[in-house]
Amino acid sequence: MQNFAHQLSQILDQKYILTNGQDMAPYSTDWRKRFSGKALAIVLPSSTAEVSKVVQLCAEHHIAIVPQGGHTGFCGGATPDNSGKQIVLNLKRMNQILAVDIANQTITVQAGCILQNIQEAAAERGFLFPLSLGAEGSCMIGGNLATNAGGTNVLRYGNARDLCLGLEVVTAKGEIWNGLKGLRKDNTGYDLRDLFVGSEGTLGIITSAVMKLYPLPISQWTTLVATESIAHTIALLNLFQKRASSLLTGFEMMTHESLALNEKHFPQFKNPLNGEPPFTILVELSDHESEAHVRQLLETILEEAFTAGIIADAVIANSLAQANTFWHMREHITLAQAEEGANLKHDITIPLSSLDEFICETDGLMRNKFPGVRIINFGHLGDGNLHYNIAPPEGVDQKTFNTNNEKAIHELIYGQVERFHGSISAEHGVGQLKLADLRSHKGDVAHDLMKALKRALDPQNILNPNKVVSI
Ligand SMILES: Cc1cc2nc3c(=O)[nH]c(=O)nc-3n(C[C@H](O)[C@H](O)[C@H](O)COP(=O)(O)OP(=O)(O)OC[C@H]3O[C@@H](n4cnc5c(N)ncnc54)[C@H](O)[C@@H]3O)c2cc1C
Repeated sequence: MQNFAHQLSQILDQKYILTNGQDMAPYSTDWRKRFSGKALAIVLPSSTAEVSKVVQLCAEHHIAIVPQGGHTGFCGGATPDNSGKQIVLNLKRMNQILAVDIANQTITVQAGCILQNIQEAAAERGFLFPLSLGAEGSCMIGGNLATNAGGTNVLRYGNARDLCLGLEVVTAKGEIWNGLKGLRKDNTGYDLRDLFVGSEGTLGIITSAVMKLYPLPISQWTTLVATESIAHTIALLNLFQKRASSLLTGFEMMTHESLALNEKHFPQFKNPLNGEPPFTILVELSDHESEAHVRQLLETILEEAFTAGIIADAVIANSLAQANTFWHMREHITLAQAEEGANLKHDITIPLSSLDEFICETDGLMRNKFPGVRIINFGHLGDGNLHYNIAPPEGVDQKTFNTNNEKAIHELIYGQVERFHGSISAEHGVGQLKLADLRSHKGDVAHDLMKALKRALDPQNILNPNKVVSI
């Protein structure tokens, strides 16, 4: 091990190799404080060449590597285990915007770029980089790609995978694969880019990426709408899809119970809609024509929805500040849950056609089996993606409740997800949190194919072992 430490210090300046417990602590516990580990060292490379050399050295010494970006992931994918034998390779020093290609509408970035910095760099040049999520001030594009992050704009622009045209990746042997082409068409055999996107650091280390840009919309209008049921909410979504088509850029759902929790911890976010509606929907339209055009379109659709009895109330944001408040209200639910304590998270997708039945049935089963539980259900409903999270009844100790009920609650919800042909991870990934659930969810054939890929690309099992699949 001493030899390894010495050779490592030949690759990077010693100040970028953290080994002291106190220095390593911020890199060893995830954002939710759910997963903690003990690393051999935290290594902070500044270039692809350094990443490559570190991986070669680790391969030589059979030392496992946990790639890490902003460490905001919800599944413990970027947290080392407790052995003290894994290194954490944090990419935050690789934070350069390498190029903006105006004609090709692409941006090339290093993996450690913070998402918000990419959005801002794009906006400065008149472009939209549409990937957007609550953690955008601290998560990094390498982490976004490794988890195939979703967020609030998937409905219109797709997830991280859909936004990515090219990658540079360091393989488990330390080779550098340069796939940084900004091509929208390239049918030359197996799609390596798509293999690495969503692989959560288990197949390679993403060091740079070419991402798509879009023209910045001229005007955006945001509204909050009250609905009485999920069936009405889906009818509203379909109406917006029919009338606004690609101008529809956001469709988020918040239940009354989620907003009540939000208000408990962040009283500044009061729902402006009348009468505590069971479902509050945030809808955003983005337009490239004019402000008047989109405003009128929004009003016409809302009028039609009122007349059809689909919605009960609506408030259109009258300023950018109010629109931002509506979005913050939505985004703060995650933070309110963190304030409340460790809740049981389920990031699921259900086909939109089954969503109403799924929620009615699952809510009923949950309340029957676990009386008094708070179902904090909200999410990117336009994508069929629910954050179906469970908090204990008011006043009940969180830790005891979770210890006694976690397994049964997961089984109930995941059982329902299977029944309705959904997914147990819509956008957060698998990490270590869902490792044990994957085989039964994917089926033997798919799971064995995943293991075969892992063995082929990382035969020594040094890249993020025991995350996603164990071999
Ligand atoms: C408040 C809040 C809101 C959130 N909202 C959303 C949301 O709406 N949608 C959503 O999808 N997620 C959301 N997340 C989860 C999280 O932000 C995303 O999963 C994000 O993509 C993780 O990026 P990161 O840089 O923090 O990655 P990390 O947490 O550091 O890593 C995540 C995984 O990627 C791997 N990894 C990291 N960097 C690399 C790399 N360069 N190469 C290879 N592997 C790598 C890690 O090993 C790990 O397995 C939210 C999180 C928070 C805290």
